[in-house]
Amino acid sequence: QAKENGKNDFQIFMPYMLTRNLKKIEIEKSLRKAIEDDQFVLYYQPVVDLDTLQITGVEALLRWISPQKGMISPLDFIPVAEESGLIVKIGELVIEKALKDIKVWEQKGAGNISVSINLSARQLRAKHFESKVLRLFEKYRIDPGKVIFEITESGAVENFDISLRILSFLCQMGIKFLIDDFGTGYSSLIYLRRLPIGGVKIDRSFISDIAYSKESRSIVEGIILMAHKLDLKVVAEGIETKEELDVLRQMGCDSGQGYLFSKPVPKDEIEKLILQGRILI
Ligand code: C2E
Ligand code: MG
Ligand code: MG
Ligand code: MG
Repeated sequence: QAKENGKNDFQIFMPYMLTRNLKKIEIEKSLRKAIEDDQFVLYYQPVVDLDTLQITGVEALLRWISPQKGMISPLDFIPVAEESGLIVKIGELVIEKALKDIKVWEQKGAGNISVSINLSARQLRAKHFESKVLRLFEKYRIDPGKVIFEITESGAVENFDISLRILSFLCQMGIKFLIDDFGTGYSSLIYLRRLPIGGVKIDRSFISDIAYSKESRSIVEGIILMAHKLDLKVVAEGIETKEELDVLRQMGCDSGQGYLFSKPVPKDEIEKLILQGRILI
């Protein structure tokens, strides 16, 4: 509600920064409450093999169900969570929820898929991150080989040596890593290759105009060629049309996600899709 009323009224007599800070403090306060009351849920979006349209995995996407405001997108609270450090706790909750869901799917015979979890840079480098992850996998007895952690280029490359150490540890456990939003940062694949990553996920911004922009097509084709030369898998995010799918198939892109296949859905719904096995479009 403050979101609707507050901003415009306030700005008349308050400097922009101040309103922004007040809003941030307000969100931070509600986030603490959300952690306490467990107002977070995971939605899942299928990741499909582009040749067969078989579901090979799902990506966990966080949703905040606020009693006052309803469902809030991660884009609206992850930045505040990162700045305030609350992302460390929230991130742990995400991993725990995902592992619980994997356990349930295994029991229902839908366990043969990978689950991607998004990590913030700050979370990755927080104290005892690796041991907390290790403990959660032991607690739920989940094969770490089923889990993929998604990190952004900048998240991976800032404090390179620390990232390398943490990624190496988790990788030895069996967890895989994927570079998310690939192409939006400034790092080269050659540099990223020094980290133990298994693949890249091409950012939606390149996919959204791939059917009509020659330039985007060239960029995506270049990324796929280079990644494959380096033995990395390629996922395309944000596939919305059959034309985009066809272009990506021709380029040999391995897998993809997007509204063409399915939006992110609650866990009961994803379970049905996983059991169904193939996406029908
Ligand atoms: P992301 O990891 O790059 O996730 C992909 C986003 O694109 C998701 O938005 C997804 O719903 C959306 N998307 C997927 N397919 C399509 C499509 O075909 N068209 C369009 N227009 N959008 C599509 P969402 O769920 O709002 O998440 C936004 C971002 O929030 C994520 O981007 C990720 O960076 C962050 N995020 C989500 N969950 C978590 C989490 O548990 N931890 C952290 N640290 N960040 C998270
Ligand atoms: Mg992601
Ligand atoms: Mg992404
Ligand atoms: Mg993104």
